[in-house]
Amino acid sequence: MVRSQLASMRVPWVQLRRGGADNEASMTHRMMSTTKARLDRLPTTAGMALPSTRLIRDIYADKRVLGRPVVSVEFFPPKTPQGETTLFERTLPALAAVAPDFYSVTYGAGGSTRDKTLAIADRIQREHQTTTMAHLTCISTSRVDIERYLLEARGKGIRNILALRGDPPQAGGELARPESGFDYSYQLVAFIKQMGGFSIGTAGFPESHVACTEGKHVDWQRLKAKIDRGADIVLTQLFFDNDDYFRFRDYLVETLGVSVPITPGVLPILNTEQIKRFTRICGSTLPAPLLAKLEAFGDDPQAVTEFGVEFATRQCEALLAGGAPGLHLYSLNKAHAATRIIENLGLEA
Ligand SMILES: Cc1cc2nc3c(=O)[nH]c(=O)nc-3n(C[C@H](O)[C@H](O)[C@H](O)COP(=O)(O)OP(=O)(O)OC[C@H]3O[C@@H](n4cnc5c(N)ncnc54)[C@H](O)[C@@H]3O)c2cc1C
Repeated sequence: MVRSQLASMRVPWVQLRRGGADNEASMTHRMMSTTKARLDRLPTTAGMALPSTRLIRDIYADKRVLGRPVVSVEFFPPKTPQGETTLFERTLPALAAVAPDFYSVTYGAGGSTRDKTLAIADRIQREHQTTTMAHLTCISTSRVDIERYLLEARGKGIRNILALRGDPPQAGGELARPESGFDYSYQLVAFIKQMGGFSIGTAGFPESHVACTEGKHVDWQRLKAKIDRGADIVLTQLFFDNDDYFRFRDYLVETLGVSVPITPGVLPILNTEQIKRFTRICGSTLPAPLLAKLEAFGDDPQAVTEFGVEFATRQCEALLAGGAPGLHLYSLNKAHAATRIIENLGLEA
């Protein structure tokens, strides 16, 4: 379903370049003048970064000099007050013991968690003195709303944005593309870059994006277009076969000449049914031997979690040994697996 909806909205390169380029450039330019004027009018303290907030490209540069990988942990904004309490009173304090370099906070496509994303990222920075990266999707969103989000992030001292397109709603329905909106994330990257003041992350897909029908090299070339427009780092979709990551990384570096960090996204398996669902949705492969092993645990969630931590530890170890510049751990808002992996690898600060 996702695949067919995306196919129906795809705009060929040529159409984007000819039909839209001039209008798009001049509209972006006009908006940027307004945006810069608004940024200039922000109270100085609102525009200033908190002492603990850093640009992610600087974090990567510093860690590289030290010969240490950058470790980041991803959260989603909790849906309930109870979930938020758990995140701030249990998950974050537990993770503080291993001190990841930064946290990222996801964004509900279409803006469903817009305020929550920034509020959680802001609260983490203030209460846990750790840099955050706020995700932002551009699907079904006007430039005005995107600009508003970025200004608000700026005002809160959030200096890093993961620029994404987002997915169409799973329930189906047509994608409403606001007249002034973006079709693809490379346009969002360019917009943020022109606005200035942010370090920008982008998503990469070692097994190719699920909706890309033209083959993985086309998808990876499109990733290069996002980097060329200003993305400072790539965070990948989850995968379980490290060869997928290494093939992807090598093609980007050796064939396309990419030099920004390409960080693998790793999801520790916590639940067999959940991982089957996730991989189905995002198009990542769950290798048959791995699935067989998981199913052999039957109805024993603790055994699955233990195995998941062990598997992810070994996966991360091999990724780092193969030259990965960091690890981006999908935590699903739980501290246990991420903390254990970081400790197992001896990466705690
Ligand atoms: C690390 C990470 C974090 C994520 N966080 C979130 C989140 O917080 N919220 C959320 O909703 N989703 C999130 N996602 C999912 C992501 O939004 C989806 O996978 C989405 O479908 C693709 O986003 P993108 O930014 O890669 O899109 P794009 O780069 O725009 O690519 C989308 C598709 O369009 C194709 N394409 C790109 N450019 C062109 C072009 N010029 N012409 C034709 N086709 C083109 C690509 O090949 C691809 O198939 C995340 C994914 C990752 C890997």
